[in-house]
Amino acid sequence: MTITISSAFDAGNIRVVGQSGDTVDLEIVKDHMSDFHQWFHFRLAGAGGREVTLNIVNCGSAAYPDGWPDYKACLSLDREDWARIPDTSYADGTLTIRFTPETDLVWIAYFAPYSMERHHDLVSTLAALPGVEYRSLGKSLDGQDIDCLTFGEGDLTVWLYARQHPGETMAEWWMEGALEKLTDPDDPIARVLRRDCTFHVVPNMNPDGSRRGHLRTNAVGVNLNREWHAPSAEKSPEVLCVRGAMDETGVDFAMDVHGDEAIPANFLAGFEGIPSLTPDQSRLFALFSDTLQRLSPDFQTRQGYEILPAGQANMSMSTTQLAERFGCVSMTLEMPFKDNFDLPDEVYGWSPERSKYLAGSCLDSLHAILPELHKARANKAELEKAEA
Ligand code: ZN
Repeated sequence: MTITISSAFDAGNIRVVGQSGDTVDLEIVKDHMSDFHQWFHFRLAGAGGREVTLNIVNCGSAAYPDGWPDYKACLSLDREDWARIPDTSYADGTLTIRFTPETDLVWIAYFAPYSMERHHDLVSTLAALPGVEYRSLGKSLDGQDIDCLTFGEGDLTVWLYARQHPGETMAEWWMEGALEKLTDPDDPIARVLRRDCTFHVVPNMNPDGSRRGHLRTNAVGVNLNREWHAPSAEKSPEVLCVRGAMDETGVDFAMDVHGDEAIPANFLAGFEGIPSLTPDQSRLFALFSDTLQRLSPDFQTRQGYEILPAGQANMSMSTTQLAERFGCVSMTLEMPFKDNFDLPDEVYGWSPERSKYLAGSCLDSLHAILPELHKARANKAELEKAEA
């Protein structure tokens, strides 16, 4: 049997450029109207029991070439369980994946996919729960809804949103974990969070990029996390509708969930360089980060992005834009594509399950800082009253 490779399905991405026996040369397809590429997801048929060699030859020009060293590709037989392929290596711009498929049909991906079908299952299941309100905030350019779930009775307004970058599927696995915990009627942390906060959750900011198998952009090649200063109906309706909804509710706490290709750790990025940074904002960000580090062995603060000096923040990104716009505490959570090298898992690497556990720890941390969030909210109200 000859090997057959295809990617004509939800979030599929690969192109065959050459084939000789059981060795196949492949290319990752660029995001439409952009040069970004790194996400791959395809099926391989007809090689059960034989060793195959897959060479992805355009990895040198990928968005994050540093993502390939120490990276292991993901393999699944049933599209539920995604294990790493140990014999994955990178040299001279080519990622080589060597393995012997157990069966005649296997699936390979950059990270465990989170399909739009699964997204719809998640949103519909949640929307059917008592106390959960569903809203479509607007439409994407391909006509998909920007789904938002709202629940909780408290004064503190919390926004959680993920997958601005569609190839970062761990972000929606995180969302699944967060939503399961937050709507658990018996979880005491969730009960207090729902009492004290009103949650607005957008599990997928970029459904078009997700379905198209993009790494980083929407249907017209736009990086949504560079649009928050000036979103437009033509280029970034996804951001326009979410930012508009935030303007209506205000924001006290916001978390934007991502994956990082290169750094083998979980970390937070903040808003240090914004023009009107307040001591309360800095203190709450540090308190959340310290608390999360205490609660989760999968979180750390040694590795991360460079902290920008005052006034040098990129205001087109959501975390900085929201911190400036609402005087709130906002943050970008980054999870690894590779693994947490401080607590590695040889079989799975960083995984859907671990992303879901990290979401639980993030909510435990949010619960731990609630008294301080309430104080900061009161301080802000006092200041606004004094200024008026
Ligand atoms: Zn990202």
